[in-house]
Amino acid sequence: MRFGLPPADGNRFASAWSELATVGRDQRRGGYSRHAFDDSEMLLREWFAEQAQRRGLDVEADRNGNLWAWWGAPGADAVVTGSHLDSVPGGGAFDGPLGVVSALLAVDELRLRGVAPAKPFAIACFLEEEGGRFGLPCLGSRLLTGAIDADHVRRLRDSDGLSVADAAARVGFDPSTMGADPARLATIGTFVELHVEQGRLLQSADSTAVVGVGSEILAHGRWCITVTGQGNHAGTTRPADRKDPMIPAAAAVLAARRVITEFPGAVATIGRITPIPGGTNVIASSVQLWLDVRHDSATVTANIVDTIVAAVRDEAELEGCTLRVHRESMVDRVAFDPGLGLQLSALLGAPVIPTGAGHDAGVFSAHVPSAMLFVRNPSGISHSPDEHADTADCLVGISALADVVEELVR
Ligand SMILES: [Zn+2]
Repeated sequence: MRFGLPPADGNRFASAWSELATVGRDQRRGGYSRHAFDDSEMLLREWFAEQAQRRGLDVEADRNGNLWAWWGAPGADAVVTGSHLDSVPGGGAFDGPLGVVSALLAVDELRLRGVAPAKPFAIACFLEEEGGRFGLPCLGSRLLTGAIDADHVRRLRDSDGLSVADAAARVGFDPSTMGADPARLATIGTFVELHVEQGRLLQSADSTAVVGVGSEILAHGRWCITVTGQGNHAGTTRPADRKDPMIPAAAAVLAARRVITEFPGAVATIGRITPIPGGTNVIASSVQLWLDVRHDSATVTANIVDTIVAAVRDEAELEGCTLRVHRESMVDRVAFDPGLGLQLSALLGAPVIPTGAGHDAGVFSAHVPSAMLFVRNPSGISHSPDEHADTADCLVGISALADVVEELVR
């Protein structure tokens, strides 16, 4: 890789990182649970606003709960970078915050280099990228771009039954303003998101590369499957009398693993399962499980879901249970702007790699030239407390982002 200047300041990175380290720790799951409009996410927003103001950036919230920090006046053909502050339940420290912290420190580095942007430049933090609280990923960017209906979003509920509208109002955000924001979208000329790599494709592409440039995001979707049986006593119910929804649920888990080998390039996961009522000595009356499927092709993704649902249905019939399948989200494959990708890859001497993870940059790429930078993650582990990137690599990422912004704001 080629970088003109020494890596970003390690002390400033360490101090920013230590300020975030205590916010939103999840004592039960490990790692972090930071979700839209909860206490920890609100603290992180305050932290971001303060950091941006300290750097002389003008901070504003948009109509959809996203935060923007402008270097200079907002305006047309803006270069925007940023990421998200929320996490999955029990997530790692890097997914999201690394892109935000790197953007702030890239501003410092650009100032050290004497760069004065000729174009408007902003750092953005997007609402509920992970869908960890309300179930739908990329809420902030999809609302802003009009990719999702605001009424639908306002009615989404968290696991305590609280709606997006009520959760927003509780922290002083007016949910009635949510919805497509074409005027703001029209000001974005280019969007670049720096992110910790999730997986190890960078290592396969080039074992020495610290930063990669994204080429595409696989098609991905989420489905909620509800299996209903008959709640009953675990000790007294004869096998023949059981209608145990956990049996078809188990078939779903096994089918999700099986399709990975049947459909090359596919991944399918059941990472969340809720038995009702959920007692050790109780046969569940119903089980809800959530299926996450990703593949290059939306058609193959649909075939995979059909295959898994058929396996659950067979088992449900044998067990005397019924089945309901609800698609919560589906996003087609996203190709990032190839010209921009090549430009950044040449600038940084970085390989170009795809990803199976969804991102706000994928949402924006339908509207404006968008790109992603991935920072090496040695184990590939993500969405887990074990997610990690070495500090030295994060500093290289900051310099790479500064190089990219310097090139784009000319
Ligand atoms: Zn992320």
